[in-house]
Amino acid sequence: MQETTLVRAIQQAEKLTSGEIRIHLENRCKKSVTDRATEVFYNLKMDNTKTANGVLIYLAVKDRQFAIIGDSGINEKAGPDFWDATKQRLEHHFKNGHFIEGLKAGVYEAGKLLSTHYPYSIDDLDELSNQISTQE
Ligand code: CA
Ligand code: CA
Repeated sequence: MQETTLVRAIQQAEKLTSGEIRIHLENRCKKSVTDRATEVFYNLKMDNTKTANGVLIYLAVKDRQFAIIGDSGINEKAGPDFWDATKQRLEHHFKNGHFIEGLKAGVYEAGKLLSTHYPYSIDDLDELSNQISTQE
């Protein structure tokens, strides 16, 4: 199943970094995609990590709108264009309707980027669930 593929991608990416990556999928985004993704970020309590290194990849599938929301710790360490490469990768796949491929690539890219500021350590905790969050 595709969801399993994505969960596995998150598990793999989180072996590169102590950062926490989550995916949220829904069909429609009824407000600004950044506002909605930020709302989901807090609904999922993604600000609840020790070093504020959670990242949400939000996708409204039918509207083909997405956003990447990183927590304050990341924003302090990284510049505003930190996620640009990841966004381009996602855009490239989503444009062709390849959502799973895009999400997988995005998760991997996000993990790699996060590892530059938040390397993996052996005593790392899985602070946020790797399950995909979905809403109608
Ligand atoms: Ca972790
Ligand atoms: Ca996790």
